[in-house]
Amino acid sequence: MDSKTKRFILSEQEIPTHWYNIQAEMKNKPLPPLHPGTKQPLKPEDLFPIFAEELSRQELNQTDAWIEIPEEVRNLYKNYRSTPLVRAYALEKALGTPAHIYFKNESVSPIGSHKINSAIPQAYYCKKEGITNITTETGAGQWGAALSYAAKAFGLDLAVYMVKISYEQKPYRRSIMQTFGAQVTPSPSMSTKAGKKILTENPNYQGSLGTAISEALELAMNTPNCKYTLGSVLSHVSLHQTVIGLEAEKQMEMAGEYPDIVIGCFGGGSNFSGISFPFMRHNIKGDKKTRFIAAEPASCPKLTRGVFQYDFGDEAGYTPLLPMFTLGHNFAPANIHAGGLRYHGAGVIVSQLLKDGLMEAVDIPQLESFDAGMLFAQTEGIVPAPESNHAIAAAINEAKKCKETGEEKVILFNLSGHGLIDMTAYEQYIAGDLINYALTDEDIAKNTSELEKII
Ligand SMILES: *Cc1c(COP(=O)(O)O)cnc(C)c1O
Repeated sequence: MDSKTKRFILSEQEIPTHWYNIQAEMKNKPLPPLHPGTKQPLKPEDLFPIFAEELSRQELNQTDAWIEIPEEVRNLYKNYRSTPLVRAYALEKALGTPAHIYFKNESVSPIGSHKINSAIPQAYYCKKEGITNITTETGAGQWGAALSYAAKAFGLDLAVYMVKISYEQKPYRRSIMQTFGAQVTPSPSMSTKAGKKILTENPNYQGSLGTAISEALELAMNTPNCKYTLGSVLSHVSLHQTVIGLEAEKQMEMAGEYPDIVIGCFGGGSNFSGISFPFMRHNIKGDKKTRFIAAEPASCPKLTRGVFQYDFGDEAGYTPLLPMFTLGHNFAPANIHAGGLRYHGAGVIVSQLLKDGLMEAVDIPQLESFDAGMLFAQTEGIVPAPESNHAIAAAINEAKKCKETGEEKVILFNLSGHGLIDMTAYEQYIAGDLINYALTDEDIAKNTSELEKII
């Protein structure tokens, strides 16, 4: 076994030159996002007040399958790409499975997660269009940290609204953002109308991504020369993340294999989309029959138990209406851990793909996700991000099935990040303080029944 290649890396020249836009090749296109006021399908111009123009065009682009990666962006990618594709021999052995398990290691980026793959182009396009200030929200702090780095690289000023519970529980991510010069405010805050309203009604509110998005959007709309950026959910974010899957495709070829199953953990959908879409294009063409599995937490099960419905992307209802699987924009995730993946909705592309049966979703209980993360750490030597643990758990479940059937399936999952700044969550798990939490059907029905029926 020791003589076998374990780790596959690409040369600089082999780093992708284009992102893959799956919208162009989907037989059923995603339904259009709607203007929140007029309820008419959005045009790119409708997004210009919020997002950089090029990002607005990418968001709604359903015609170009390949979009060139600007040279400045590719140059920054070269600081850490390609990321390794690794065969998890030790994990396979511990499981006693005949399956071949591979993971794409996005945790080696300077910030420790895949988020930087979209932070760099978003900051780049803003800079190129003469923007001076950007705003965003962050939950666990991964996106905020990645964007802080990218903003600094392009000389932009960044204001981050960080979900209050994470601001308090994850001081190191806050410090990373501040190290790169970002201004970080706990959300909800009194600095915006949206935050003030929520705090007046509920002074102890611990914050949610939906609320933080409302605050960041409000600041962007009220500040000259300022745009808003988002680290997940939107189609242009998924587009940028395809650099992961495009590399993985070449690396799997180096390994002489092709995945039967591709797995990503699922918050808003960006890392899952990134690892999956380049492989999924072969399914769409009819050449392959790979299974794609999104792994979400049982405490926030929008794909497995939510409704497909037009809904807002934020709490206050500032964003366009998005056709997606959702638990309702008023969904307040349980405070059992601040480990990410707690967003109420899913990207519009992924939502359509799930509806059309091109992919599957599973929900993973919290303790099972940490059991998986511990085993992965102890076999492969990397402490995974709590988010990534959901993908590992799903991969382990598939590998165990192979053990029962004796099938030598090839399983590929995305290791979206490392957990070295999330040790509080591991500490709680090791101390036995973490619990499983699943929503009741009544909770879900109550929240989604309040949505305006547009579909
Ligand atoms: C943000 C994040 C996720 C979840 O977001 P997606 O958009 O669904 O990928 C997963 N893993 C890590 C490490 C993250 O930082």
